[in-house]
Amino acid sequence: MYALDGERMLTAWERGREQREPWRALALLQVALPEWDIGALAALPLVERNALLLRLRAMTFGGRIEGFAVCPECGEQLQFVVNVADLERELRAPCEESWLEAETEMRMRPVNSSDLAASMAADGDAQARELLLERTLILPQPANIESPQPQHTQRSDWLARFERLNASAEIRCLLPCAACGARPVLDLDIAGFVWREVALAARRLLTEIHRLARAYGWSQQAIAAMSTPRRAAYLEMLDA
Ligand SMILES: [Zn+2]
Repeated sequence: MYALDGERMLTAWERGREQREPWRALALLQVALPEWDIGALAALPLVERNALLLRLRAMTFGGRIEGFAVCPECGEQLQFVVNVADLERELRAPCEESWLEAETEMRMRPVNSSDLAASMAADGDAQARELLLERTLILPQPANIESPQPQHTQRSDWLARFERLNASAEIRCLLPCAACGARPVLDLDIAGFVWREVALAARRLLTEIHRLARAYGWSQQAIAAMSTPRRAAYLEMLDA
């Protein structure tokens, strides 16, 4: 995996701004992992995609994540600091689940980015979840089950399994609120978080390139290829 710096940062930003989630996160990963094709990335369970995003984040911006969240109880703004290494430890790779139902083997696989993309067409959260369940539940083949229409209890059992299987992909941080004493759990959207950081860093880099190119006439490639401290040193000289 390559860190997103210089030209890679600009490419990630260019590709990312043309996409919506979940493709945007994959566009960033593809710049860092050029040997992977988009289909392979889209087929990764979300927990594995999130692990790659965390690694990319640590390589590009460092292993310490600082951010803000709002306390759901009192509205206080909470600052949080988490270490990527701690978040990575929390991510447990889910395996496909299998179980027996009326002597038939049922299987369920974890949700991936292709599933998420398909669920975007759904009308509301409940329908999206149904759609995801349908895609990830692998019904036995050939059709040795007479009717594919499940019983209500069967369906709620499937949904419970679905929740359990996919819970590990979520990145949760406990954020104690000093103002009201609540202990809300933040569901960290790592894809959105990394994208916002990439967008900010790319804009900053473009501004630096703009200033240095104007002052010295160097090419964009040459300036983007410089180390950050070297660029900063030239900018300091321009400001002096
Ligand atoms: Zn609070």
